[in-house]
Amino acid sequence: MMRAQPEASHFIAGEWVEDSTGTPFDSLHPATGEVIARLHAATPAIIDHALNAARAAQADWAARQPVERGRILHRAAELMRARNHELSVLETLDTGKPLQETLVADAASGADALEYFAGFAPTVTGQTIPLGRDMAYTLREPLGVCVGIGAWNYPIQIACWKAAPALAFGNAVVFKPSELTPLSALALAGILAEAGLPAGLFNVVQGMGDAGGALVADPRVAKVSLTGSVPTGRKVYASAAQGIKAATMELGGKSPLVIFEDADLDNAVGAAMLGNFYSAGQICSNGTRVFVQRKIKAAFLDRLAERSAKITMGDPLDEATQMGPLVSEGQMQKVLGYIAQGQAEGARLVCGGARVGAQGCFVQPTVFADVTDEMVIAREEIFGPVMAVLDFDEEPEVLARANASEYGLAAGVFTRDMARAHRVAAALEAGTVWVNAYNLTPVEMPFGGVKASGVGRENGHAALEHYTRVKSVYLGLGDVDAPY
Ligand code: NAD
Repeated sequence: MMRAQPEASHFIAGEWVEDSTGTPFDSLHPATGEVIARLHAATPAIIDHALNAARAAQADWAARQPVERGRILHRAAELMRARNHELSVLETLDTGKPLQETLVADAASGADALEYFAGFAPTVTGQTIPLGRDMAYTLREPLGVCVGIGAWNYPIQIACWKAAPALAFGNAVVFKPSELTPLSALALAGILAEAGLPAGLFNVVQGMGDAGGALVADPRVAKVSLTGSVPTGRKVYASAAQGIKAATMELGGKSPLVIFEDADLDNAVGAAMLGNFYSAGQICSNGTRVFVQRKIKAAFLDRLAERSAKITMGDPLDEATQMGPLVSEGQMQKVLGYIAQGQAEGARLVCGGARVGAQGCFVQPTVFADVTDEMVIAREEIFGPVMAVLDFDEEPEVLARANASEYGLAAGVFTRDMARAHRVAAALEAGTVWVNAYNLTPVEMPFGGVKASGVGRENGHAALEHYTRVKSVYLGLGDVDAPY
């Protein structure tokens, strides 16, 4: 039997902490259903302890020289890279994502974030503002205690994308991972401590939505960053608003991928597959509405069906496996429900459409053609390996249809016509647009959504705005001109 039991459920003030009066919950390996760890959700006492620890540690950390903060994060990035294999196995056990993916996309991307923000921290400066006789300057200050709440699809990456900028700029963090994937954030906490991060700056507490809700509502918290679904985002954003707190919301999507007839067909097919089947389709920015210009529809679908049939599904711990199970039984049932709905709505099943095996949460890579804009499978986020292919004729038509969504996380365009590529990129309502590529999220590039897909940005220079605030200092250099 596989076990990945952590030392304790929580990591607070530099120590492993257990409170067995908290509701117990299990972490399951989605490929087999085996219990790999048993944890306890945070009690109010645990949440209080974590927030106190964070608050107590933050001021000293903020007072350190930025290059020193960066040095610790650099060390953590090196430790993560050195332990990439074991962290990847842990992530595969917890999420079910194939090791082939976790070895390159999860801890590695987390390490990139630590490295990037480690280097960024010492470059942060303010402005000097000449005012005639007087002058002003600005200071970039940390916010204080930042709460991070994660989804289950990229657990350690999400933890790092939030913790790295927060810590680099002098904040303290309390992170609550998804209850479905609680383990890798604890591994990150251990690594940060080993790298020399002072106690209390990165705390992990476990629990369900209510634990997240308690963190968000607490007056000790200055900022909340959530990665999750739109319904959760609405609740968390509303709660943050009550406390007039800063908020970053990385939410869901139903992103369009527009493929023009002059595109390189194999590249477009490959991108559509990556943007629907990687991580078994459990990626927020997936291009799940694939608009294909009518002239190349038949060729596109033939090539897509041929390549999709060759995807190797199976044991995610086998490095040859290309697609693993969905994260949970509940997610599998949700996805199978959408597949049934697509068939009932009259979409044409090109390939896939069924569960694989009786054990584990495996669903075949599934492609629907002849999908129309009103169908539920073209409007709602499925979060599984289900691609909807829609036909289009003209550029203005496809732009209007691509933008007719409550979501606006990402979009893609495939064409060899560069003028069109830039025109379409400008017109698509999305936080990120990929041209002749899909789903690449290097840490150097800001990432986030528009419309219901979110507010704020992670990564890149943009992250500075979301983990610091500006203080203006006015310097009166002459006499005070009082009229009384
Ligand atoms: P979810 O919204 O169910 O849960 C996300 C997190 O919020 C979990 O940790 C959960 O415990 C917590 N939570 C739930 N209710 C809460 C509440 N009332 N207050 C505070 N916290 C609460 O999402 P999920 O099912 O874990 O993840 C899938 C969703 O996340 C998809 O919609 C996906 O698109 C989105 N996602 C977005 C991004 C992005 O960067 N934009 C990345 C990954 C996933």
